[in-house]
Amino acid sequence: MAKSKDDRWVKTPMREQPAEERVNNFDEVPFGYTEEEMMREAERCLSCKKPDCEKGCPVDVPIRDFINHLKEGEIGEAARVIKSTNSLPAICGRVCPQEEQCEVGCIVGRRGEAIAIGRLERYAADWAMENEPDADEAPESNGHKVAIIGAGPAGLTAAGSLARLGYEVTVYEALHVPGGVLMYGIPEFRLPKALVQEEIGKLKNMGVTIETNVIVGKTMTVDELFEDFGFDAIFVGAGAGLPTFVGIPGENLLGVYSANEYLTRLNLMKAYMFPEQDTPVKVGRSVAVIGAGNTAMDAARTSLRSGAEEVHIVYRRTESEMTARVEEYHHAIEEGVQFHWLTNPVEFLGDEDGWVRSMKCVQMELGEPDDSGRPRPVPIEGSEFEMDAETVILALGTSPNPVVSSTTPGLDTHFWGGIIADEETGATTREGIFAGGDVVTGAATVIQAMGAGKKAAAAIDEYIRSKVEE
Ligand code: FAD
Ligand code: SF4
Repeated sequence: MAKSKDDRWVKTPMREQPAEERVNNFDEVPFGYTEEEMMREAERCLSCKKPDCEKGCPVDVPIRDFINHLKEGEIGEAARVIKSTNSLPAICGRVCPQEEQCEVGCIVGRRGEAIAIGRLERYAADWAMENEPDADEAPESNGHKVAIIGAGPAGLTAAGSLARLGYEVTVYEALHVPGGVLMYGIPEFRLPKALVQEEIGKLKNMGVTIETNVIVGKTMTVDELFEDFGFDAIFVGAGAGLPTFVGIPGENLLGVYSANEYLTRLNLMKAYMFPEQDTPVKVGRSVAVIGAGNTAMDAARTSLRSGAEEVHIVYRRTESEMTARVEEYHHAIEEGVQFHWLTNPVEFLGDEDGWVRSMKCVQMELGEPDDSGRPRPVPIEGSEFEMDAETVILALGTSPNPVVSSTTPGLDTHFWGGIIADEETGATTREGIFAGGDVVTGAATVIQAMGAGKKAAAAIDEYIRSKVEE
């Protein structure tokens, strides 16, 4: 394929819905590469002898090899290579922060723009989904049972790995739909839900049982899973769904939401279709989102699509400390989200009916680094001002819900609620119980949760085998 010398150092762009159109719908924003675009991008890869890109992948995808297959037009083979280590490639190709993981190590990135590894992964995965749907069948049972708590990326990955080894796996999920944050948090316009359910369907084909509407720790305890249901081991992948609040006056006003509640109402319960759907949500004319991570971007962009006229992201640090994926940040800017750096709310102000109407904010400056290593934001005296806000969404981070740990004797946690588990094996302080994903690390990424689920599955297999040999 002909290309100019300069093209070699620039990522092949991905076509997407224009910003002015997409703010009126929930359809996916980027369209994905065409075959020609995929080929142009794959051919930029140098097929390095020592591919540094691979060092950044938490699930060890053989990146160079799958790109080599793409270059040869062997798309199905490329997808098989990816799937040899990554069970959810169509999802990772869309939501992984590649710029901090594989792409950061890409040698091409030293001279120009790194290879668009995520976009190529998405191409191969989508192609395979359409052209070569897996004929995964239930492997023969090895007679041992494993329970998984939570159907997010950690739990689903552990379930898939164990099912492939012949374990009888049952996943218990608190919500009425499996998928975790992939279903209730990340919006449709970033990650189509049909795609998530298709991946989950493959697990079911392999014999994994998924029981929804079961809160382990309330519906039944971990001890009951061992004693009454006869599981040999348990993996806890219950995520970090407990929202953090700011603790300032006015936080209990109507119209102040945690991002989790807000996104769950809109994504999972389709509140934007109320009254055709049962769950309402009130989106004001002006929306303020507090925080600047992926969750904040999702809440802001969802608000624009749900009728808000103006959406403001308010963050006490600066753009440099923001944790959102670069692509989501750029999309948010294009869609008209307004950013207020070094700004912090100190009070939410309401009307006589108890609805939030505005917030009092203070300007900040950056001081010495705090415990997180980032510069500590310090309020500037006398800098208070008021900002309109008919809806406020708090996207300040989350921590693990204590419902499993508090009902399971011997399962130790950190002071902030995370389950204490070995980094390599996921083994917890209680024999037979393993854990991984956000419930161990606190809010992190999809691929890290998957990596933890995979490692724990291997450790569970080893644990059960060792018990059999005893
Ligand atoms: P979760 O996905 O939280 O799944 C845990 C599951 O366990 C949930 O379904 C929950 O209902 C269930 N559960 C909890 N308690 C119980 C119980 N007692 N009994 C039964 N079930 C239970 N990461 C990225 O890599 N890229 C992104 O672009 C990105 N965007 C994000 C956007 C938002 C809005 C949010 C909130 C997070 C985002 N993340 C992103 C982070 C990523 O989604 C998480 O790190 C990942 O989903 C963690 O996976 P997990 O399996 O550990 O937990
Ligand atoms: Fe290709 Fe970059 Fe990986 Fe080298 S480091 S194999 S150029 S993707």
